[in-house]
Amino acid sequence: MSLVWHPHHDLSGANTLGLPCVAERFVAPSTPDELAAVLHEARAAGWPVTVLGGGSNLILGGWLPGLVVHPEFADYRCETLDDRRVRVQVDAGMNWHELVMTLAGQGLWGIENLALIPGQCGAAPIQNIGAYGVELAEVLERVHLVHLADGREQVLDAADCAFGYRDSLFKRALDGQVVITRLELCLSTQAAPRLGYGDLASRVGPTPTPLEVAEAVCVLRREKLPDPSALANAGSFFKNPVVEADLAHTLLERYPEMPHFPQPGDRYKLAAGWLIDQCGLKGHREGAFGVHDRQALVLVHHGGGDAEGLLRFADSIASRVLERFGVALEREPRQVGITA
Ligand SMILES: Cc1cc2nc3c(=O)[nH]c(=O)nc-3n(C[C@H](O)[C@H](O)[C@H](O)COP(=O)(O)OP(=O)(O)OC[C@H]3O[C@@H](n4cnc5c(N)ncnc54)[C@H](O)[C@@H]3O)c2cc1C
Repeated sequence: MSLVWHPHHDLSGANTLGLPCVAERFVAPSTPDELAAVLHEARAAGWPVTVLGGGSNLILGGWLPGLVVHPEFADYRCETLDDRRVRVQVDAGMNWHELVMTLAGQGLWGIENLALIPGQCGAAPIQNIGAYGVELAEVLERVHLVHLADGREQVLDAADCAFGYRDSLFKRALDGQVVITRLELCLSTQAAPRLGYGDLASRVGPTPTPLEVAEAVCVLRREKLPDPSALANAGSFFKNPVVEADLAHTLLERYPEMPHFPQPGDRYKLAAGWLIDQCGLKGHREGAFGVHDRQALVLVHHGGGDAEGLLRFADSIASRVLERFGVALEREPRQVGITA
């Protein structure tokens, strides 16, 4: 099938926040070769390129100039390394949740706690997706990518990707510079349930399979998080802040019940949702945007708003937290096509 270029393509339905956005040009390559050809054309024409996955971690401005590329190649294959380990190679365009459920169903351990995270596999390393005590970096071996500037292909070892909490090289030195085309994961055939986070342990039997764990994670997430197809959102809107021990101790004297998690370097991670909730903002709504009424970390879009309105609303939430706790909140979704 030949590649279809869509001029002035409406992306309102292609981002889970439901923000209005039009791409000057949009193309969805269905093979790595098609992607290479598209990027070649963009370089020759001097178009800026934006990569769009599932649009579940994006704040889109109204107009994206140049070219929006949405990888659609979505194959995967497994290779047995020994009696304990299986290497999985997966294309950027595969749906992450589908991959998790397929591999968990094959009895492979390692990503079952990351079930129901929306989006494509190619986006997963960008913020080193994490949930229920597990991060992608724990199972990721290599990232295959193409540089936008010259079409050069490169394979990066995970150790060179500077993974951190919701962070990676792809949000720093390589921000906006590459298209991730494939991931290599190393999963285990040996039972290794990670049930220490939240209520997970109480939701599965004593010797669960990876599929049982993944299904339990899905149930828990559906109880807590709004489904973007019913109420537009981008999951956690703010990162959990990591603060110096002095500030954490001062706050704990005033709020002994405050959730806090020790981190390396005498620092503490605090729960952004708890801080927002304490400001009385759970369920708070201003026009088109609101704080979700069950999970204060999630901002929701009731319709009719745009990126600027969302950012104003988010800033007002962050200011209230800063004023009350002296803690600065950082946004988690990436901003694209917004100049201010
Ligand atoms: C309801 C909900 C729950 C969520 N829960 C979690 C959670 O538990 N944990 C978590 O970590 N995240 C969570 N998220 C955030 C989001 O799902 C992840 O960040 C996901 O990996 C984004 O994938 P995407 O394909 O939608 O990326 P997009 O939103 O399309 O893009 C995100 C960024 O990645 C870039 N990008 C996308 N694909 C590529 C590629 N192939 N190459 C280079 N750059 C690329 C984009 O340009 C953009 O900068 C949640 C979101 C929602 C809506």
